[in-house]
Amino acid sequence: MEQIHQRLSSKSEELIAKENQYGAHNYHSLPVVLERGEGVYVWDIDGKKYFDFLSAYSAVNQGHCHPKIVDAMIKQAQTLTLTSRAFFNDQLGKYEEYITNYFNFDKVLPMNTGAEAVETALKLCRKWAYEVKGIPENQAQIIVCENNFHGRTTTIISFSNDETARKSFGPFTDGFIKIPYDDIEALENVLKSSTNIAGFLVEPIQGEAGVYVPSEGYLAKAKALCKQHNTLFIADEVQTGIARTGRLLATCGNCTCKNGCENTPEIKPDILILGKALSGGVYPVSAVLANNEIMNVIKPGQHGSTFGGNPIAAAVAIAALEVIKDEKLADNSAYLGNILRNGLNEIAQRNSLITLVRGKGLLNAIVINCEENSNLAWEVCMKFSEYGLLAKPTHGNKIRLAPPLVITESQINECLAIIEKALNDFK
Ligand SMILES: *Cc1c(COP(=O)(O)O)cnc(C)c1O
Repeated sequence: MEQIHQRLSSKSEELIAKENQYGAHNYHSLPVVLERGEGVYVWDIDGKKYFDFLSAYSAVNQGHCHPKIVDAMIKQAQTLTLTSRAFFNDQLGKYEEYITNYFNFDKVLPMNTGAEAVETALKLCRKWAYEVKGIPENQAQIIVCENNFHGRTTTIISFSNDETARKSFGPFTDGFIKIPYDDIEALENVLKSSTNIAGFLVEPIQGEAGVYVPSEGYLAKAKALCKQHNTLFIADEVQTGIARTGRLLATCGNCTCKNGCENTPEIKPDILILGKALSGGVYPVSAVLANNEIMNVIKPGQHGSTFGGNPIAAAVAIAALEVIKDEKLADNSAYLGNILRNGLNEIAQRNSLITLVRGKGLLNAIVINCEENSNLAWEVCMKFSEYGLLAKPTHGNKIRLAPPLVITESQINECLAIIEKALNDFK
């Protein structure tokens, strides 16, 4: 297999060697060294251009280096960067008003990374459970799903079932009950089994697990059951949110999102977790949204972050959310997602290397015809890269295909041709 790898330039080899020598080995990166990005494209240090089909795990939905978002960042960076929340700043309130109106919640709690926002949601849920629902202290349980991905902190990996993410990091945090994903009966059984259930944390589509789309109606039924049992329905939309799946939120139900989001009530989460594309990939910005009866349980000193809600984050997030609406990226994602999946299904009919195509909007995956632990999906991604398209395997034999949402129809067709050409090399 070695000979199918394109040769790296010595400049690339040098930079990769530096990361290997001086950096912790916590990622297995594809051997390409990028130095520039614009829209759907990135360029490596030798000037080779690629379509970015990972979009930094859906952080770059608005496209690389979007000028409006970068301008907002530069302008704010030259004015005021960080005050901490010890004082007020002139950007935060404006942003809080904007994002809560945008997503139709009473309040927001600003954080920086996705994992921090998930941690925030868990703490918020527990506090609500003790102070509002009346669960006895330290007895609250939160339901989570098998094969979830919610980040990498100690509490979050406590309820992961990815052994690589967990091994030798214990002891873990208690208070979580794991059920199969997309299994309403399992959810109902746990909700019925105890009066100490505080919340249900779920990804509307399981991204890292390989873009698992639950069956139609699953989320609405889950929300209804949670409501019936006075349990919070918590949606982790760090990856699915902000137009990625063809709607502003994957929990928008069937609304068309022409002008922002009137969440359909049947599916609107009690707590919404956002991150990644909330900044268009230019800055770490995350957020937890909820209504007053939940968010008001948090009092001064009980939670926070030095950088959370900083003026740059506030200015950047407003610009990033404006771009989503101005450029109708939810509609583009829905429209081009169908074209991409249709094209991939046609390729699958001609090439048995693809066994399955799935996804929603521009969050998609192909399943490669091999064992989960085989190297083939990695080799396919190496071929994609040689032909100018960057993607990465997720969980063995699945390859996620998630370009920036600013991609055009002719670019999607160009990419389908690249994908087919690369796959044909394995025939
Ligand atoms: C990426 C991701 C996270 C974690 O976000 P970080 O910014 O990497 O901490 C949490 N949940 C989901 C669904 C994600 O995709």
